[in-house]
Amino acid sequence: MFAEVIVDIAHTAVDRRFTYRIPDDLPVAPGHHVFVPFGQGDHLKEGFVVALKSTSDYPEIKDIARIIEPYPVLLPEQIALAEWMKDAYHCLFVDALRLMIPAQLRGLRIKEKKVRTVMLAEGVDPDAALAALERAPMQRQVFEIVARIGAEASVPDLNRFCPGCTPAVNALIKKGYLVEQSETVFRKPQKYRIHTPSYALTDAQVKAADAVRQAVEAGSGGVLLLHGVTGSGKTEVYLKAIEDCLSLGKHAIVLVPEISLTPQTVGRFTDRFGDRIAVLHSRLSAGERFDEWRRIRLGLADIVIGARSAVFAPVERLGLIIIDEEHESSYQSEAQPPYTATEIAARRVKTLGGALLLGSATPSLLSYSRALSGKYTLLTLPDRIAGRPLPTVETVNMRDELLMGNNSIFSDKLTERLSECLAAGQQAMLFINRRGYATFVSCRSCGYVLKCDNCDISMTYHKSELRTRCHYCGATKPLPKECPNCKKPFIKQFGVGTEQVEEAVHRLFPTVRTLRMDTDTMREKGSYEKLLSAFHRGDAQILIGTQMIAKGHDFPNVTLVGIVAADTTLNLPDYRSPERTFQLLTQVAGRAGRDNLPGRVVLQTYEPNHPIIRFAKAQDYVGFYQYEIMERKKLLYPPFSLFLRIVFTDRDERTAEQGCLSYAKSLETALLETLGDEGTQDLLLLVAAQAPIARISGYARYQIVVKLLRTRRLPAAVKTITSFHDLHRDVCAEVRLEINPQEMF
Ligand code: ADP
Ligand code: ZN
Repeated sequence: MFAEVIVDIAHTAVDRRFTYRIPDDLPVAPGHHVFVPFGQGDHLKEGFVVALKSTSDYPEIKDIARIIEPYPVLLPEQIALAEWMKDAYHCLFVDALRLMIPAQLRGLRIKEKKVRTVMLAEGVDPDAALAALERAPMQRQVFEIVARIGAEASVPDLNRFCPGCTPAVNALIKKGYLVEQSETVFRKPQKYRIHTPSYALTDAQVKAADAVRQAVEAGSGGVLLLHGVTGSGKTEVYLKAIEDCLSLGKHAIVLVPEISLTPQTVGRFTDRFGDRIAVLHSRLSAGERFDEWRRIRLGLADIVIGARSAVFAPVERLGLIIIDEEHESSYQSEAQPPYTATEIAARRVKTLGGALLLGSATPSLLSYSRALSGKYTLLTLPDRIAGRPLPTVETVNMRDELLMGNNSIFSDKLTERLSECLAAGQQAMLFINRRGYATFVSCRSCGYVLKCDNCDISMTYHKSELRTRCHYCGATKPLPKECPNCKKPFIKQFGVGTEQVEEAVHRLFPTVRTLRMDTDTMREKGSYEKLLSAFHRGDAQILIGTQMIAKGHDFPNVTLVGIVAADTTLNLPDYRSPERTFQLLTQVAGRAGRDNLPGRVVLQTYEPNHPIIRFAKAQDYVGFYQYEIMERKKLLYPPFSLFLRIVFTDRDERTAEQGCLSYAKSLETALLETLGDEGTQDLLLLVAAQAPIARISGYARYQIVVKLLRTRRLPAAVKTITSFHDLHRDVCAEVRLEINPQEMF
């Protein structure tokens, strides 16, 4: 027998199937992780067996050296998925395969964790042994314990009973009284059980869960979109759907944004399903991640809850994938290959005969339009649980505040609501939207903006370090005393950060305890969980934070949400800015009044009449959708078209520019040829220019933006671009093709 092996080297030149002979005594199956001799000198390299065959055309065939893990690390379905990804994302086969296994498995970096155990040796008479051990009290004591247990005892446990007994254990083994074994243990991430009562589901929940069960039963790869307002009980629907799925003998994966994978969320699932749950996310230690993955692969866990990459979990008999907060951009990977978890999930349930459930209070425009057109099944939870009202949202025009002489961070309204909330012994959250250009440094006199020397990006001021920092390359600079341009002393930081908000709170309410959550305070492992549980316990009355506090958290005592600046992202140069702003504002507002206490939201803005702000105030998703989809149609933005971007980077400005321009010219010719006479209109845009961020880390950047109308000719046009790209990717140091890019700058 022969095996086709993908060698674990990420290089275009070797990204193909190599044939090896399978030695007679080696039980190789598709999916095995193996060592094979490769290249000159036949050094052993890791590889993945992707297929078996009984003949081979090559005369000189080498043998597979050995199997690494005793079981195949890839399921046949995963191999097929990787093969599909290779074309769909235009990536290396091996890059796709690598996503299916924990990184630690490669390079033999992590081993199973074994513990030493001992038990009585066969034929030993305990009484005689105890008598013989009269003069060695520690050995005698250990022996007594092991004899009493009458089964395997782990050496760490024995040490707990009699500290420092390992030498005694060793002596007993040497004397033949005990025999040694070792047993694999699984490192388990901390999984609290958060006890949640089993509710009688509401009618709307029952209806939704029923529809999901039918889709799982039908097993035809159907996609369902659950649109439920914040606090409408979506999680309860997920739990019921999983229960039904298990009772049909099938297994499930639940994806949650990394940031929402808190002990609270995991706890609700663990409480319901116990040890059958495996958790996968990036805050686990390498050993924990490896062991959780192995528990799934070996069938010890059949429900997986995890972040984006958990969509690849090796779950067999997969019947249901759930993607919570499906609109989140974190489901799109920025690394190679640039996959989207939703696409992978849809593909897996289609090939495996399962169902995909997408859930959100603010579905992406794309998903909602698919639901309206009947491609997805639309399920709705229109109301909050137990007739709880959605929070009341008040908007404050910050221009008016300024005119009235209030130039502080907080409007009078927000200050008033804060004191009411605190006086009532309740909690508040203050949200600062830090994307956009929140805390840049500029000169009041000449308008000069302090930028990074390596990147075309404004520096962000960090008060705690008294320095400015570039968020692209990490370079720092002191805050200059005078403007480098006009030499006047009017240079200072603008915008609001979490630190300034915290200071402002302390000035207004000196005795109030606050917690601050942003990327700066969250660097340490475990700090995220610590801070959330501190707030949950009521250690502080106000939680101040960025995007991180917007998602999924359920704090029953929070009755007030203050949105300090609602419109900072509204005018970013990206067609998705209105959608993202609406989603974010709705999510943040949804944190208020989730339990029995009614919630309030104060939304501070400079553009209170902007349609997006008005829909956010009314928490009217459908109104927002109808407005925004018309805007997209007018300007032929996605979903009516597809964007592609090709980024050219090089140390040398001219090389990047020339590369970009010549590429653009020939690409246009190739595209027009593919589209043919009747399809010329499909090419809505093809511009080559300096990128909006002209330099990053000292590299010059140019880009081509292509916009194609969505017609039946689109797949052929995309194929033309990817094939063209393969032949022309060497015009400068790096040429990167992005299909539906997440950022345009
Ligand atoms: P969502 O995910 O839609 O924002 P959750 O699933 O977190 O909402 O539910 C909101 C709250 O309502 C939670 O505290 C949950 O325990 C509770 N809840 C959910 N379903 C029911 C029900 N049928 N009866 C009573 N309480 C429920
Ligand atoms: Zn920089």
